[in-house]
Amino acid sequence: CGIVGYIGKRKAYPILIKGLKRLEYRGYDSAGVALISDNQQLNVYKTKGKVSELENFVTQKDISGTIGIAHTRWATHGEPCSANAHPHYSSSEKLALIHNGIIENYAVLKEKLQAKGYIFKSSTDTEVLVQLIEYMKVTHRVSLLTAVQLALGEVIGAYAIAILDKEHPDEIVAARKSSPLVVGIGEDEFFLASDATPIVEYTDKVVYLEDGEIAVINRGEELKVVDLNNVEMTPEVKKVELN
Ligand code: GLU
Repeated sequence: CGIVGYIGKRKAYPILIKGLKRLEYRGYDSAGVALISDNQQLNVYKTKGKVSELENFVTQKDISGTIGIAHTRWATHGEPCSANAHPHYSSSEKLALIHNGIIENYAVLKEKLQAKGYIFKSSTDTEVLVQLIEYMKVTHRVSLLTAVQLALGEVIGAYAIAILDKEHPDEIVAARKSSPLVVGIGEDEFFLASDATPIVEYTDKVVYLEDGEIAVINRGEELKVVDLNNVEMTPEVKKVELN
């Protein structure tokens, strides 16, 4: 139900947790976070319940890292429990993905992937996305962006997604269709959220992604926005009121 992302120079975890709390008004049943740690591990922590329960859960865990994504879930497919909470890992645990929305053709895609040996750990519609992206990446030997474009070409449904790739610790790929997603542009840092509320305390420059757009957010680079066919879009940077 809520998405937050951060890449920059600061510690990602506190920004992500604060952002999730700003989105709590939307309602949710579980919460989770994925971080690429200072020693390049892709760590996923998730729990059923409140964001405060997630905070208790991660005490003693490695929450280092300057890149991460976080999620509050409102279950549509699969009961509220930690296995169904987001982020979801791909089979290799090299990718982690969060999703708002519903994948309508997930059952067909899941069956195809299971037939190819992919093991699913949740009963969500979402997990099929991360597995399909990994499948595209591995079989076609393409970049994360291309894999996302290929995967989304097969998906029917509504989504706002964000993905981390352990092999690319300087990049977040995010996409939307029928679910809102906003990119905040700071100084050498980027924010990502379902709406501007988690972003406004850091920057007043935002880009509201349009349906069918994919944002490639790279540390130290300009925001790149493309569509599923890799046509480059010119993102319209808007000013929002600072709190
Ligand atoms: N359909 C997904 C699930 O049930 C995402 C729900 C949401 O938007 O939070 O896990």
